[in-house]
Amino acid sequence: MKRTGIQIALAICCYFLLISCEAESYISRKYACSFRLYTEYHTTCMLVESLDQPQTFVKVSLSSLNGGYRMNATNQQNKSETIILSNEIEKQYYSNMGINLGAKNLIIIGQTTFYGIQAFDGTCPNCSNTPELSWVEKSAKVKCNQCQRVYDLNTSAILEGENGDALMRYYVGYQGRGTLLEVHN
Ligand SMILES: [Zn+2]
Repeated sequence: MKRTGIQIALAICCYFLLISCEAESYISRKYACSFRLYTEYHTTCMLVESLDQPQTFVKVSLSSLNGGYRMNATNQQNKSETIILSNEIEKQYYSNMGINLGAKNLIIIGQTTFYGIQAFDGTCPNCSNTPELSWVEKSAKVKCNQCQRVYDLNTSAILEGENGDALMRYYVGYQGRGTLLEVHN
């Protein structure tokens, strides 16, 4: 009887271990990703505004500029916006961490239908040279123009084209406008 109890306990432990491993496996660690935006300083920027609107996704990249940093954002309508990250806390973060936004300094962030705010690498996970994904008809889909796969930004899955890997996903931490937005792996 005692042995059965231990076996059950072990089985429960294994179950939770498997569950947690599975959750972990959704996060891609293939390329480093460490993005922070202190949205209290940028309450009306395109990225922050889009996070309040379902089905709205924004591509984000970073570059350095005269000892500071700037963020370039492009929405599904291909409208772009560049904002300067000039406050000390942001400059400090990127000077410590460097610019690491996945495979090609490009991530896609947005609010999905069922899974809240999600972030993906902006490149194709199935082509070895990681080409940049393009928007599909202003929808919540992106396409790789090399392998022709179409991905659903709501689920990360392939919608059209050959079988393969889903979009590379990163952790998102965000408690709403005015708080720290973090994307990392
Ligand atoms: Zn591809």
